[in-house]
Amino acid sequence: MKELCGFQLDDLKAWMEANGEKPFRATQVFEWVYSSGLRKPGPLGPGNSHPNLRGVRNSSQIIPRSLGRGSSGAKDFEAMTNLGKELRAKLAASFSFPAIKLLRTVNSEDGETTKFLWELPDQKRVESVLIRSGTRRTVCISCQVGCPARCAFCASGREGLMRNLSVGEIVEQVLHIDRVLKETGERVCHLVYMGMGEPMENYDAVIQSIRLFNDPAAFHISQRRITVSTVGVVEGIQKLAKEDLQVNLVLSLHAPNQHIRKKIIPYARKYPLEEILLAMDDYAQETKRDITYEYTMLAGINDKRIHAEELATLLRGKQCTVNLIPYNPVDGLQLQRPSSETIMTFRMCLEDAGINVTWRYTKGKDIAAACGQLAMQKAEGLVLVP
Ligand code: SAH
Repeated sequence: MKELCGFQLDDLKAWMEANGEKPFRATQVFEWVYSSGLRKPGPLGPGNSHPNLRGVRNSSQIIPRSLGRGSSGAKDFEAMTNLGKELRAKLAASFSFPAIKLLRTVNSEDGETTKFLWELPDQKRVESVLIRSGTRRTVCISCQVGCPARCAFCASGREGLMRNLSVGEIVEQVLHIDRVLKETGERVCHLVYMGMGEPMENYDAVIQSIRLFNDPAAFHISQRRITVSTVGVVEGIQKLAKEDLQVNLVLSLHAPNQHIRKKIIPYARKYPLEEILLAMDDYAQETKRDITYEYTMLAGINDKRIHAEELATLLRGKQCTVNLIPYNPVDGLQLQRPSSETIMTFRMCLEDAGINVTWRYTKGKDIAAACGQLAMQKAEGLVLVP
């Protein structure tokens, strides 16, 4: 069985044709699946009208019952009532939808962060995080079960990589969260590939998912609101620069030199810092996007003044931002978060050198839901509070 949410519109059109159906049936299916509030609200015009409304004049004023609250966003093929019974049966026999199941959600105490725990068809589990900040609704997406990078401070890679997520499994994380938001009139507007996994190691599925997130017929989220974070896989960065995409790229730098980086990031042995930084520069040039360097601050390892000075020298002249993240404690790891004063001194040192710095206030600490801190949790070991 194929996953419905793994299909681009053109591929679904081709499937329809190959199965003796008209290609516009694919557009109808897309509307049932995706037109659940992600598109900007506006009058229903010829280009984006619901199939039920074709040919109806002044359609923006007529909202049939079938389009009312909760009706767009079909839960299964049976709900796609403007498709014939036969086609619905054919679709149900060929495609799985939905492919992932929500097991539970947990809210942080401040209510700004919600963690979603999903079960995949093979019973494996992944998490996504919804971050509310002002009117912005960001989803932090997982792209793998586990992670091959095994960074010393990260919970996601502790058991290594279990498997890649499919396009549909990536896309449905956002689809279902958006449907939850829609109930209160909100929508997902920003995406970050900062959950479990290394996007460059599941490259094709990540690119396909970005295309669906960006597609006006599906999610219609601007590429500039989509961010891919990488541990520094040089050929992945180079390949992404050659795509016709303009997504934001973040490098998990975490060290001012190759020596320290190798101690905390096993991937650094394969990809020397110098080569990664050159690839990042090329990315910035090709796509005209600024780049961000993430720097998780670990007490006694990369948080001293000399490290800040070295970092400033390393990044001198680059059009970039450094995002300082205080280490978020992970159970069983001996690492420490630096004091606020140490972080402040580090920050000021970078700023004095003319570097643009942001300081990520780590959201969702009480539910261990900070991006990049999604642990592989066994059912009985869940630290989630119902
Ligand atoms: N594999 C990708 C994306 C996932 S992690 C990458 O390496 O970029 C998202 C970010 O959170 C990364 O910068 C990661 O290094 C950071 N991170 C992971 N665990 C953390 C922790 N315990 N405290 C602070 N930041 C962490």
